[in-house]
Amino acid sequence: MSERRIHILPEHLANQIAAGEVIQRPESVVKELLENSLDAQAKQIVVVVKEGGKKLIQVIDDGGGMSEEDAVASFLRHATSKIATLEDLEAIRTYGFRGEALASIAAVAHVTMKTRRREDESAVVVHIEGGGAPRVSREAREAGTSIAVQNLFYNTPARRKFLKSAATEFRHIAEAVQRVALSHPEVALRFISDEETLLDVKPAPLHERLLDVFGQRQVEEMVWAEEQTDLMSIRGFIGKPSFGQKSRANQYLFLNRRYIVNRNISHAVFSAYEHLLVKGTFPFFLLFIDIDPHRVDVNVHPSKMEAKFEDEQYVYRIISTLVRRTLAANDLIPTVSLSTTDERESGIGLSFTDRQHPWGGTRVDPMTGEVLSSPRPVETNVGTRSSFISQVLQQDGKEIADRLFGKPAESEQGVQRAGNETAFIHHAAPVWQVHNRYLLTPIEGGLLIVDQHVAHERVLYERALQRTETHARGTQQVLFPEPLQLSPVDFALVEELLPHFQQLGFDLKVFGKNTVVLEGVPADLPATSNAKVIADILTLYREYRQHAVMDARDVLAKSYSCRAAIKSGDPLNEREMRSLLDQLFACTMPYVCPHGRPIVLKISIEELDRRFGRT
Ligand code: ADP
Ligand code: MG
Repeated sequence: MSERRIHILPEHLANQIAAGEVIQRPESVVKELLENSLDAQAKQIVVVVKEGGKKLIQVIDDGGGMSEEDAVASFLRHATSKIATLEDLEAIRTYGFRGEALASIAAVAHVTMKTRRREDESAVVVHIEGGGAPRVSREAREAGTSIAVQNLFYNTPARRKFLKSAATEFRHIAEAVQRVALSHPEVALRFISDEETLLDVKPAPLHERLLDVFGQRQVEEMVWAEEQTDLMSIRGFIGKPSFGQKSRANQYLFLNRRYIVNRNISHAVFSAYEHLLVKGTFPFFLLFIDIDPHRVDVNVHPSKMEAKFEDEQYVYRIISTLVRRTLAANDLIPTVSLSTTDERESGIGLSFTDRQHPWGGTRVDPMTGEVLSSPRPVETNVGTRSSFISQVLQQDGKEIADRLFGKPAESEQGVQRAGNETAFIHHAAPVWQVHNRYLLTPIEGGLLIVDQHVAHERVLYERALQRTETHARGTQQVLFPEPLQLSPVDFALVEELLPHFQQLGFDLKVFGKNTVVLEGVPADLPATSNAKVIADILTLYREYRQHAVMDARDVLAKSYSCRAAIKSGDPLNEREMRSLLDQLFACTMPYVCPHGRPIVLKISIEELDRRFGRT
């Protein structure tokens, strides 16, 4: 018997193994082929799949094409035209650069490439099966490249078995196509699955491309965000908090136009929404980050879906600030449509319950190009768009407050001076309290409903954060300080949070074993509070802490404001109601409570008219 147990794997086997890293499923093939077409400067791309890509994946482009020599070489491992030196690797400007995709695909499928450069007379046809020797021929064909991949994983039965149903594989492919549709609005893209055209989009500005992909109703839930720094530019859309998503699927991050997944950035966005989203939901975002390629490394994963930034913290800060600022500047009042079914519930874009029409939009006959059915008619929400509120909210919070509930003398003039437009709420407009829980007040476009507890909570929360930032304490001394006995666990927590308690305005002293004494409380805490408030806050603190990653200061501020706020059930007199509304609309984010519940709802007059059959 030979002594030698180690041997070099035959190349086709090595390629099959390596293929597993780059090509996990039909979607990976689609992604790699699309990236190659984009790298070849294609302006029109057609993607054809059959049976979720298991039978056929074909990508046809009108890009630069290849010479015969290159066409054959392109299937070799580490064959790339995109980088040549280490310096190139340090500043990647193309989607591909590892030279692995075609070799990997050809190792595990039947591949036919047809490619023609503009200057060549005819196209080269290269056929490869399972990484074997290429068969080369020529045929007539327009310029560009078509690569057809059939019977993926036919020679690796274990992998083939791992594939999910055609419907599931299709869904992954559709997501990959959609990402390119979103990241490259200047490229015409057609997607045909099992003979049906599911997407057919022309070159368009980003906003129009979004309408093509998501539809009007969902695009209305997005707001534009933009920031330019010395090091990078960020542009794109973020979802309103009311557009919370059930999963992270609708988070699009394009780094130098490459789709990437980056937990740090997702978290930066998420944290900016933290107190605005309903628990368990995620923000929608579609952001383009453009940055000097020297400052990022995209070569950290074979599928190139991850990236490392030179300065992650910087990126985190910029993005989270941008999102916060954008949210604060936009109209975020949910409009109630009083309808029995809430269409917003159904989520965004590709829910794929209807496999045939993931874009819910235009169906085009693949043969004639004729439109078979038009998109679902869009119900426009008269109240939201054209309302006075959205105009007013372009301005900063203070001014809104003044215009909404301004000091009596001023707003009296205001009403006459500016006529209808500023007469949004007349200072003398009635405010009613309903069930000691909601405040109602007419506004120009309809009716506002405010939840008194969460409104007050919001006010206290923002003030608390301000106090901790400015170190302005606003403590009021307690007349007869009482020692408070805590459980050892609570006591330990208080000790840990002591500096934050003090920043909030609590004058809290440790007083022997497991005991604290409360000598002063924040000025906005109701007078009746005693030392027990500490125990209540700790309980809330623990509860909130479980649900989110936030810093202790923020959680404590939330716990405090929830505890200190007027309760649902507390009767309020008129002065208190007006003062609460004043304070609420002076907040930077008056529409969503620190835990993500809505504070304000609006019913438009149009909606009421409609309901009463007046229109
Ligand atoms: P990479 O994209 O990392 O360079 P690939 O294996 O994906 O590696 O492709 C190998 C080479 O084949 C590319 O560098 C490119 O020169 C060429 N190529 C692949 N697809 C196309 C295409 N659609 N049009 C023109 N050239 C292509
Ligand atoms: Mg490639």
